[in-house]
Order: sequence, then structure tokens, then C-alpha cells
Amino acid sequence: MSQDATSEGDLRNTGMSLRHDREWDYELERIVEEVEERDAKKVGLQFPEGLKRRGPAVADDLRERCDDDVTFLLSGQPCYGACDLDTYLMRRTDVFVHFGHSPMKESDKIIYVPLFSNVDPYPIMEESLEEFEDPDDDPNVGLVTTAQHMNLFGDMVEWLEDRGYDVHTRKGDDRLTYEGQVLGCNYASADIDADQIMYVGGGKFHPLGLAMEHPDKKVVIADPVNNVVKVADTEKFMKQRYGAVHRAMDADKWGVIFCTKIGQGRWEIAEEIVENNENAYLITMDEVTPDRLRNFDMDAFVNTGCPRITTDDGPRFHKPMLTPQEYKIAIGEEPLENLEFDTFHGTW
Ligand code: SF4
Repeated sequence: MSQDATSEGDLRNTGMSLRHDREWDYELERIVEEVEERDAKKVGLQFPEGLKRRGPAVADDLRERCDDDVTFLLSGQPCYGACDLDTYLMRRTDVFVHFGHSPMKESDKIIYVPLFSNVDPYPIMEESLEEFEDPDDDPNVGLVTTAQHMNLFGDMVEWLEDRGYDVHTRKGDDRLTYEGQVLGCNYASADIDADQIMYVGGGKFHPLGLAMEHPDKKVVIADPVNNVVKVADTEKFMKQRYGAVHRAMDADKWGVIFCTKIGQGRWEIAEEIVENNENAYLITMDEVTPDRLRNFDMDAFVNTGCPRITTDDGPRFHKPMLTPQEYKIAIGEEPLENLEFDTFHGTW
């Protein structure tokens, strides 16, 4: 991964890393209870990338607590969200435990273990207040965070209210579980009546998407994981997007990617493009990586899967990689000034 172009939005750098060796609550007792209640014999375990190495130890702890005839299977598939369930393993197990992400869609078979952070957010929230208007001038502040800090969301709202702010929050859409929650592809919870938003969470991945989706709002990052305050700056990302669109304007052959991950499929969009462009080829794949696309002799690609692969990893691909809307701009169906951040709504 080219450090400069993509590190800020690295999908692996979403506050779930082991850097601080935090203790996560894997909710082992709840899992054991569910396994016993369902008389499950095969249990699948899926961890996000940053916690995969903990998988064998968690499996050991569960083995100790369960009957000998219960088998635990670890998913080795890449996993960056609840959009990314290992459906192969899920079909072959009686219970499937997905760690680290909030439910995108409930299912009887899946146990979601959210893994709440135990980092104290208040010192860095206090520091971040310097970036906000004085509450006497403009008390309106939006508050958003990620699933890892949701256990404190109500307290964070109160904390801001105690300091004179009028805190605006909302629950986004079906793709989100909690009020105030954001995903890398969905910032509907920030559609609120405030020009300034506090994002509490680790890394820049989420707040950069937030700032691209809401360019009219000031997004202040209060990052309790790395102990820093920053204002999200999207300039570099936006330049990259314009650059990619420009480079794709001369393209003849287009590869249109349909992602087969359960929560990333936008079939109608992919289909519409190939139906209307005889030089467009539909390519199906689960993990969208530069290596996998290198052998396709295309002039440009359109990614209908995870929008962050396009915006954050885009420069790593050998040919321009566009979002569906950017494709329309590149072929002249929409003006360049319409360019918007690609988001994902609904489930599957
Ligand atoms: S589709 Fe959304 S939830 Fe899934 S990995 Fe991409 S940004 Fe995250």
C-alpha cells in the first residue's frame, strides 16, 4: 500500500488495532450460553483484521468452557465490516460469531459481539473543544462515533450538554445499528442541523469520509486512541478523485466490478452500466485488490462494492478506479462539479 496516498484512510487503521493492547470483552459467557441453548456443534468465529491474531486464544477460551464435541472454526477471510460476513463458513456452522462490528442485519444464526473500547474519551474531547465555536456564539454541535465507542454515546452527549452545547444526533438508516453511529460508507447520522461535528474515535478513516460526505460541515476529530485532535482535511482526497476522473475520461474499455460480499452488492447499478455501454465488462469478485485486477486489460474500472476501496485504495490500482457516479462524470453524463462521496445505504 503506498503510504502517502492511502495511509490516512487505511481500512486496517480504524481504531481496531492492537497497538495499545487494550483488553476487549469477547463476551465469552454469552457465546457459551447461546452455544448450549442451541445445542450447536460447529461454531464459526470471525474477527476483523486488527484482531485476527487473537482468534486462536479466544477459540481456546471457548473450548475450555464448552463440551468436547463442540468445534470452533476460525474464518481466515479478510473482514472489514459487518458487510463482510464469511457466508461460506456461516452456512457450514450452527452458530456464527462475528466480532468487532455492530449488526448490519440480524439473523438467528449470527451472534454479534461489538467489542466496546475501554479508552477514556473525555480528556481528548475536552482538548477538542478548542476547535469549536464558543457555545454562546453557536451552541449547535453534532456528535458521531463508531461502534467501538457506542457504549459511552449517551454519556458523551450529556458531557457536551453540561458544557453548554446543544447536541444534535440521529440514527442514520438500516445499515446502522445505533444513534450517532457512522460507517466508512454511511454518514446518514450526520445529516443534522449543525455546522460543526465532533467525531470521537480512532484514526482518520471515518472522519475523512464524513467530511467528504458533508463538505459544508467542520469535522473535528477527537481521537482517544492516538490521543490527538485534528480537523478533517479532504483536499488531498478530493484532488485524487478529480485526477482519477480526468484520467478515465479517455477510457474505452471499462471493467465494472460487482462485489460478491454479502453486504456490498449493488447489482442494479453494475447491471445498468454494462447494459448501456458495450465496452463495459462485468467482473465479479469478493476482495477487490490491485493484484486481482492487474490481468484485466481495461482502461478504467468502476467499483460498485465498498466505496472506500475506490477512494482510499484507488491510487494503488494500475488503472483509474471510479465510483459509479464518477463513471457518469467521466463519460459525460454528469458535470464534474456534481462529484460527491460515494455512500452505501440499506443492507441486503
Ligand atoms: S462497505 Fe461500508 S461497512 Fe463495509 S467495509 Fe466498506 S465502508 Fe466498511
